[in-house]
Amino acid sequence: MNYEAVIGLEVHAQLLTRTKIFCGCSTEFGAPPNTHTCPVCLGMPGVLPVLNRRVVDYAIRMALATNCTIAPESRFARKNSFYPDLPKGYQISQYELPIAEHGHVFTEVNGKTNRIGITRIHMEEDAGKLIHDPYRPVSTVDFNRTGVPLIEIVSEPDIRSPEEAGAYLRQLRAIVRYLEICDGNMEEGSFRCDANVSVRPAGTESFGTRTELKNMNSFKHVENALSYEIRRQKAVIADGGEVVQETLLWDPAKGVTVSMRWKEEAHDYRYFPDPDLLPLVIDEGWVEKIRRTLPELPDVKKGRFIAEYGLPSYDAVVLTGSRGLADYFEECVKHFPEPKTVSNWVMGSLLATLKAQNKTIEQSPVSPERVAELLRLIGSGLISGKIAKTVFDEMVSSGKPPETIVREKGLVQVTDTDAIVNVVKQVLTEHPKEVSDYKAGKSKLFGFFVGQVMKATRGKANPKMVNEILKKMIDG
Ligand code: ADP
Ligand code: MG
Ligand code: ZN
Repeated sequence: MNYEAVIGLEVHAQLLTRTKIFCGCSTEFGAPPNTHTCPVCLGMPGVLPVLNRRVVDYAIRMALATNCTIAPESRFARKNSFYPDLPKGYQISQYELPIAEHGHVFTEVNGKTNRIGITRIHMEEDAGKLIHDPYRPVSTVDFNRTGVPLIEIVSEPDIRSPEEAGAYLRQLRAIVRYLEICDGNMEEGSFRCDANVSVRPAGTESFGTRTELKNMNSFKHVENALSYEIRRQKAVIADGGEVVQETLLWDPAKGVTVSMRWKEEAHDYRYFPDPDLLPLVIDEGWVEKIRRTLPELPDVKKGRFIAEYGLPSYDAVVLTGSRGLADYFEECVKHFPEPKTVSNWVMGSLLATLKAQNKTIEQSPVSPERVAELLRLIGSGLISGKIAKTVFDEMVSSGKPPETIVREKGLVQVTDTDAIVNVVKQVLTEHPKEVSDYKAGKSKLFGFFVGQVMKATRGKANPKMVNEILKKMIDG
């Protein structure tokens, strides 16, 4: 029987507010333990939480960007559990009345567009962090993270493969970054994901029993963990067994999922409305004010890049992956209005360089103006596309303008017919054996002669002219 996967993701995004969600403590990352705490976020008796308005602003931004309906009235609830990272014994979250519901985003995988439903978005506070001492039987707790604002984005079980899950996650991360509400850093835990997955016979409607995967702090882990878990569930069923609903931890070192059953026992959270917080009322005016501040979002930008610049969809997806990259591309096109040529260079040499140097587009060692200058040199025939790659590397390491590099290194393309004829003559004289083999029918040797001419000119001969002249001289 052919089985298909059904996947739904719960994504937590830490919001970039200056202060915590219910008190004035700083949200800054990496401060000495327990220095960003106060009676409110430590859960002392008699204190009262006060909602940070900016957290609501950010949640509304995300809700609008993901086509959700915003609740005119929502509520905070207490989610009870006893764990040393939760000083109050409960986490303030939203439950039966979240701030937003019924949204969707579009993702693209291998040229196919998928609509992924968003069940709900709610606001909540983060918990503290336990630190387990590797040398002593002691654990300590840092409450700096307690009360840092989060939004949780819950998807419908609309995802059908690990690749689609990865694309959805990347899309959500691009959106929070475009909105500037979260830094999207998975490694540091400011953008985290739990994945729910089940399998069912392909073409059927009802869902199979799901498992929930935790502890995945990179896109790769999410995709690998899901692939493993889908294979495992299929094997269980093929063996005549049944999948057990449970929470699993992904072990990236071993490449397997491990059960964490204790989590199930603690699963009754006994939610109830938090009596310390009033219902949250959001009027149309508030929503409209925020709607006017939204940037052009990845989807719209992608559509515009296709329509306005005539780019293939693949290029448009890559280039709109971040606002910075999209801006960089548009700045290049302003100075060199051949979008596909620009796109090839930005997606090729530039991104490869940034990756190798572990830099963001904002830290690019080459400016858009300089890229345009380089492309003009190719366009005018002064240098070949191949030499341009060398020039680009030199621009990266020396910071010099392309024209200077071309002059200093003598990289100007040879387009002088006589000069090329001379080199071709010389190559043919030096390789009499190859010439006679070629004339005897070994036509593949043509490429060898081209290669020899390019080598003799150190790559500077105009390749089109070399081909033409060689053809004339050897065939004619
Ligand atoms: P909980 O909070 O207990 O984990 P939810 O009902 O909020 O439960 O669901 C969490 C996620 O699980 C959602 O993203 C949903 O799409 C997904 N989900 C629910 N049922 C299934 C299933 N049978 N297979 C895969 N994913 C599922
Ligand atoms: Mg869950
Ligand atoms: Zn505090």
